[in-house]
Amino acid sequence: MGTDREVVIIGAGVGGLAAANALYRTGWRVTVLERADALRPIGAGIAVPPNAMYALDAVDADGMTLGARVRAVGDASGGAIGARRPDGRWIFRPSGDPVGRRFGYPVYSLVRTELLATFAVQLPADTIRFQTEALTIDPGSADRPARVETAGGRAYEADLVVAADGGRSAARRVLFPDHPDPADGGYTIWWMLAPGLDDGEEVIASEAMGKGAVWGTWPLNDGRIYAYATVLKRIRDGVENGERASERAGVGDPLSELRVYFSDWYPQIRRILDAVDPASVYRDDARWMRTPLPAYHVGRVALLGDAAHPMTPDLGQGGSQSIEDAVVLARLLAEVGSGPLSGALAAYTAARLPRTMGMVKRSKRMATFHHASTPLGMALRDQALKLSSSERTVGLAPAHLRSRVRLEALTTVG
Ligand SMILES: Cc1cc2nc3c(=O)[nH]c(=O)nc-3n(C[C@H](O)[C@H](O)[C@H](O)COP(=O)(O)OP(=O)(O)OC[C@H]3O[C@@H](n4cnc5c(N)ncnc54)[C@H](O)[C@@H]3O)c2cc1C
Repeated sequence: MGTDREVVIIGAGVGGLAAANALYRTGWRVTVLERADALRPIGAGIAVPPNAMYALDAVDADGMTLGARVRAVGDASGGAIGARRPDGRWIFRPSGDPVGRRFGYPVYSLVRTELLATFAVQLPADTIRFQTEALTIDPGSADRPARVETAGGRAYEADLVVAADGGRSAARRVLFPDHPDPADGGYTIWWMLAPGLDDGEEVIASEAMGKGAVWGTWPLNDGRIYAYATVLKRIRDGVENGERASERAGVGDPLSELRVYFSDWYPQIRRILDAVDPASVYRDDARWMRTPLPAYHVGRVALLGDAAHPMTPDLGQGGSQSIEDAVVLARLLAEVGSGPLSGALAAYTAARLPRTMGMVKRSKRMATFHHASTPLGMALRDQALKLSSSERTVGLAPAHLRSRVRLEALTTVG
């Protein structure tokens, strides 16, 4: 059912654009404000697991579902991810597609801009206003619209505002001024893109785990390699002969720092580092929402994605949870039609807060597991990884891949 109401979405990231699609297809007039001048490739690649696929399958996209459009451009060879020791020996080598067999879809990997472009192209032209930074937000009330003012001095009034402005959300700080900021996850993340290697060696989706550090390699659908690395901050801060490890490794050059940390890891890592496009390298510290927000809505504003529940990337679920948020929000709003939004927004908080905070906590536990740095911790981790390679445990362990939300088809009103 269409509502012909107006929504302003802050942020054209994964969550903002998923929300734009889901709301547009249920009759909302949608405007997306994005402060960058184009869709941002931050994060280089992204994995889309089955639970996000099921959510996207609930969104119509001109005769196909949005999920089908993502599958058409994604690479499914990362259906199984291997685990290696730093010297390259396999803890387990990926084979078959246990995730796909168990959950109906494999894990698809895509260049992140391609995922965003797949979402953006389904929206009417001019929906996304680039170089438009939201500066202030007034959440409105039952009888007063919400209002967003931009850095350019323009004001937007709307029945609904969706704040999808990412982990450093300014909207969250305005709506919950006394709430603590996300906590430090204890490690730094680098992610990057490299062209395919022409040395004949196969590039296999895998993660290698060493002492307080992880290296991930994913082949992408366009032949390139998406790689990421994480290193505990206390390793980077470690002082030897009066010099911090990160400084010894070369200040300001993220690639030379990585070359030092991964110098004695298996040779393909060094070849990938040599091939990386320096412009694609992005570095950030992991953060997570230790203290849950009291709600994911205030007045006529819904918080969505990392703005509501930033998590460490250890389950690869941050973007997927923002997609689930978007689809659930649109479905609950569609159910109230042209009635008051307050009930739907309260139901959105009730549906999404427990699931997403469960994911935040599980990701943090997984971060500790991944970054083991004592001999005992590392031995236990490697043993657990070995066990998780079996078909049986793949079916049991990644409960987060199952979609626990009821997703009804969101059909176009057009
Ligand atoms: C290394 C790494 C790997 C990851 N891998 C995966 C993965 O494989 N699968 C997965 O599901 N998730 C993954 N994630 C998590 C995922 O990237 C995030 O959870 C996801 O991007 C969150 O989407 P979002 O829309 O909430 O925020 P973002 O994608 O951060 O988008 C926020 C947008 O808002 C814009 N913005 C901010 N402030 C304003 C403002 N004031 N006005 C206008 N615009 C504004 C920003 O420019 C940005 O475009 C990974 C994260 C990391 C760090």
